[in-house]
Amino acid sequence: MPPSPSPDPLIAGWRFDNSYARLPDAFHTRVQPTPVAEPFLVLFNRTLAETLGVDPVALVGPTAPAHFTGNLSFPGAEPIAQAYAGHQFGHLSRLGDGRAILLGEHITPTGERFDVQLKGAGPTPYSRSGDGRAALGPMLREYLISEAMHALGIPTTRSLAVATTGEPVFREQTLPGAVLTRIAASHIRVGTFEYFAALDDTESLRLLTEHTLGRHFPDRKDSETPALGLLEGVMERQASLIAQWLRVGFVHGVMNTDNMALSGETIDYGPCAFVDAYNPAAVFSSIDHQGRYAFGRQPQIATWNLARLAEALVPLLHSKTETAVERANALLAGFTERFQREWHNALRGKLGLFTTEPGDAALADDLLRWMQNTGADYTHTFRNLHPQASTPAPDCAAPFELWQQRWTARLDRQPQPWPEVQRRMQAHNPAVIPRNHVVEAALTAATAANDLDPLGRLLISLTKPYDAADQPAELLNPPPPGTPVCRTFCGT
Ligand code: AMP
Ligand code: MG
Repeated sequence: MPPSPSPDPLIAGWRFDNSYARLPDAFHTRVQPTPVAEPFLVLFNRTLAETLGVDPVALVGPTAPAHFTGNLSFPGAEPIAQAYAGHQFGHLSRLGDGRAILLGEHITPTGERFDVQLKGAGPTPYSRSGDGRAALGPMLREYLISEAMHALGIPTTRSLAVATTGEPVFREQTLPGAVLTRIAASHIRVGTFEYFAALDDTESLRLLTEHTLGRHFPDRKDSETPALGLLEGVMERQASLIAQWLRVGFVHGVMNTDNMALSGETIDYGPCAFVDAYNPAAVFSSIDHQGRYAFGRQPQIATWNLARLAEALVPLLHSKTETAVERANALLAGFTERFQREWHNALRGKLGLFTTEPGDAALADDLLRWMQNTGADYTHTFRNLHPQASTPAPDCAAPFELWQQRWTARLDRQPQPWPEVQRRMQAHNPAVIPRNHVVEAALTAATAANDLDPLGRLLISLTKPYDAADQPAELLNPPPPGTPVCRTFCGT
C-alpha cells in the first residue's frame, strides 16, 4: 500500500527564516490569520511547490485546506502584517497589509528566499474599514494571471494555492470568500519606503535600504552610497519589467506606488488585463477614470513612481538635501533612455531582427501605428508576421503590404535565414495570452457554476504560451466581434 500523505507540513519541507519579522516593530504588526468556517482547497500549484523544494504530496494532505486558509499554522511561521504607505492615483495614504498576512520567508534547498503570504486571511490593524477578506473570483484571477506571466518569462509573484473559506464576503454582491497563498521574492514596495519617509524616520529608512539591498541587490550592498545603488538597481529592473509588459500587451491597471515591488516582480493583480487590439490608450480598470494607468502610459507612471522612491531616499543620498536631490535627479533622468533601450530590444525580438540599423525603431513604430489605426490584434499580428502573409486587416491591406515589403527587405539585409528569424520571433511573440473574454468565461464558470474545468484547461494552455500547437482557437485568435471585455474590476 502506498504511504498515506503526511498531514505534517514539517515533512513537506518548509524551512522558515523570517528576516522581515526580525526588523524593528515599526516595520510590522504581529497578527494571526482569523480562522474560517469551512476551508476547502480549490487550486494547488504542484510545479511551484516543487520549485520551492516542498513536497507537493505531503503538502496536499488532509490538513492542506486548513493550512492554506490560515486555520492551521506552518511550523516556523511568524505571521505579521507589513506597514507601508502608497500613492494611490497620485495621493499618498498610510496603508499596510489590510487583508494579507506574511507567514514568513521560506528558504529553498538551493538557498533562495521567498515570502509566503496569505491574501484574504482576515483583518489586521491596517484594515481600516475593510473586512480583511478576499472573494474567490479575484483570487482565482490573480492565480491565473500571475502563473501566465511567469510562463511568459516575466518576473512576477506566484500563486501556490487558492482555498475557499466557506464564508461569504460582502461587496456589491455577496460572494464566496477565498484565500490566496502568494509567493514573492519579497513584498517590499516603493510605498514601504514612503511610509518611513512620511514619518521622518531616517533610521528605519536606512535599515530598510540595507535589508532590501541584502535581499535583492547583494552586489550593490557595498555601493559608496547604498541608497543610490538601490535606486539604480530598482530602476534597471523596472525598465526591463515594463518593457516586458508592453511586449505581451499587459496592462497592470493599478500602478500605485504600493503596488510596485522593489524586487522587480509584477505584483498585485487586480483589474489587470491584456490588450487584444493594439491601443496605447487602453484602460480596463473600472476605477481608472482618467486613464492614468493606460497601457501606453505605464513607462511614464514607472518614472513617476521611481521619483517617489527617490524622494523617500533623499535623507540617505547626501547630508545636504540639495546635493541629494541633484544626485537622485541625475539618476532618474536616465530612466526613459534605459526603458527605450529595453523596449526597442523587445521590439527587435518581435520583428526577428538580429542586427541593428538606424531605421529599426521607425520600422517597429510604423507597424504599431498601423495596428492602432486598424484595430488589429496585437498578439495575433505579431505572431503571424511572415514575409508572404496576407494582411491581418483586409480593409487596410495597402499600408500593411508596403510595411511588409520594408520589413522583408530589412530581413534580407541580415545574414540569418528565415527559420532562425522565425525562431527568434516565436520566442518573443506569444501565441497565446490570457485573453480577457476567455479569462472572464473561465472565472464565471468557476464562481457561478462551480465548474473548474475551463479554468484548469486555460491554466494548462497558458503554461506554454509560445507554443501554438494544440492551443484552442479562442486563445489563438482575436475575440469575435462583440466579445472583447472592456472593463475589469478591482473586485477586492
Ligand atoms: P490593493 O488594491 O489590493 O492593492 O489594496 C490596497 C490597500 O487596501 C492595501 O492596504 C490593502 O491591504 C487594503 N485592502 C484592500 N482590500 C481590503 C479588504 N477587503 N480589507 C482590508 N483592507 C483591504
Ligand atoms: Mg496592493
